[in-house]
Amino acid sequence: MEGYICMTCGVQYEPSEREPESCPICEDERQYVNPEGQKWTTLQSMKKEGRFQNKWVEEEEGLYSVKTDPGFAIGQTAYFIKQESGNVLWDCLTYLDEESIQKIKKLGGIHAIAISHPHYYSACIEWAEEFDAKVLLHENDRHWVQRGSNFIQYWKGQSFPIHKNMILHCLGGHFPGGTVMEWREGNEGKGILFSGDILQVAPDQDWVSFMYSYPNMIPLPAEKVKAMAMQTEEMKFDRIYSAFRRIVKKEAQASVKRSAKRYIAALDGSLFSGDRKS
Ligand SMILES: [Zn+2]
Ligand SMILES: [Zn+2]
Repeated sequence: MEGYICMTCGVQYEPSEREPESCPICEDERQYVNPEGQKWTTLQSMKKEGRFQNKWVEEEEGLYSVKTDPGFAIGQTAYFIKQESGNVLWDCLTYLDEESIQKIKKLGGIHAIAISHPHYYSACIEWAEEFDAKVLLHENDRHWVQRGSNFIQYWKGQSFPIHKNMILHCLGGHFPGGTVMEWREGNEGKGILFSGDILQVAPDQDWVSFMYSYPNMIPLPAEKVKAMAMQTEEMKFDRIYSAFRRIVKKEAQASVKRSAKRYIAALDGSLFSGDRKS
């Protein structure tokens, strides 16, 4: 028996004889059901199709990005961070092929998979079983997990250290358990923040945004955005990598602060006060 995979969000379900009836993650207002109807696949069928591969890029010392090509489901990028105390995979992909397995084995395997929110739960149990890795998920989003496993370790509260210099922080927002990962040693010691969709780097990569739903464009309230930005002030980072491989290259901490200020000004109307043309 195989675990069916939703083709719109890429999340794998508990192994079953038949396709699940629906995908609660896509039926939620933060995602969407394929307008042509719910569609399912499996990892085996994806492999058989033979058209997918995972593309690896070494972004900087000790950090690789990995993305399935052609894009599958939401099309996120995951990040692999090499650490002496155990390698970490940040966010996850649905597609796992032999080439990726060999590549990761050469890099020393995976100690922990940390995931920002349910849209990227993907096929994390397949990855966990392959590498004997724990999967770190925030307790607040436990009810979104579609395939249970002893490899999952739920964490609670605001912060959780994977290693001394690699810390998960729950910012919430997009999801109540919305998590970012601070890597204090990355970027030559200036620090990196992996933000998933929790802080989304904008096409203008000096800015980030904060949304309840990205595909359906539902914003977050001012108070929440303010609290999220304030929480990042306690962290050490100068660079952000987001789920779509957009990067705030430098002064990222200031960028989050500035972006929150602009977002709140847009919500309260003051951003547009000088705009008399419209
Ligand atoms: Zn789905
Ligand atoms: Zn999302």
